[in-house]
Amino acid sequence: MNLKRLLLCTDMDRTILPNGNQPEHPEARRCFHEFCQQPEVCLVYVTGRHQALVEQAIIDYALPLPDYAITDVGSKIYYYIDDKVQEMSAWEDQISADWCGQSHAQLKRAFRHIRELTLQEEEKQNRFKLSYYLDLDIDKDEIIAQMAAILHDLGVHASLIWSVDEPMHVGLLDVLPQNATKLHGLRFLQQHLEYETKEVVFAGDSGNDLPVLGSGINAVLVANASEEVRALAQKMASDGGHTTALYLARDDTFSLGGNYAAGVLQGIWHFQPEFRTSLTSIGFQHDL
Ligand SMILES: [Mg+2]
Repeated sequence: MNLKRLLLCTDMDRTILPNGNQPEHPEARRCFHEFCQQPEVCLVYVTGRHQALVEQAIIDYALPLPDYAITDVGSKIYYYIDDKVQEMSAWEDQISADWCGQSHAQLKRAFRHIRELTLQEEEKQNRFKLSYYLDLDIDKDEIIAQMAAILHDLGVHASLIWSVDEPMHVGLLDVLPQNATKLHGLRFLQQHLEYETKEVVFAGDSGNDLPVLGSGINAVLVANASEEVRALAQKMASDGGHTTALYLARDDTFSLGGNYAAGVLQGIWHFQPEFRTSLTSIGFQHDL
């Protein structure tokens, strides 16, 4: 009996979506799409996007439909069944305790005197996600410290997640329940679906992926990631004693290079040797 299976969890923007400055190999997404058609692969998108923008990306970039989507930086989880999408209410029940009864509106009011914060658009907010833009020339650590002090005084258990939208050249600062990051969402799904940790591979490229990249879950950082994120991911993995669980995709030894979806496939090649035959059969080549 063949027991190999894979819970493939991947960020979207600039991880499988080639919407960064670096080039994408023309075969990379076709290979990714074909790879994900195998019944042994359970595909999870793990993204800062909200559900409608996930759907849009799937259409715009001809991506495979996932089995699950952890959206809004971890504050919502959806499952796909018969081409329909349903929210997992059990996840919202689980994360709601962290905000200790405070509403989205109450938290927004608590931060309104911090002039540097610009509220993101309405569709990027939800009951458990309060999201701001912050200019890149502002000291983000100072702002995050101010916000953390306010949250502490309110008794709210929150994660403050910083990321950079490089094409827009703006910082993204998300206030989430402490247990509603991409990492917590992924752990919840792993447990819910009864996958062992060795059966999970995560792929990402930027700041809101760091909690997973440094967590000890087998994870690949795509080659188009910035030097800053590469250094932070390596430091987190090293500090946590998880260096073997972090793979940095490379540009030089694989026929499709290491950017975007090709980098994700490299991670699978590295962590899941039992899938190498199927990778080779769809045209993914290791050149060494
Ligand atoms: Mg990304």
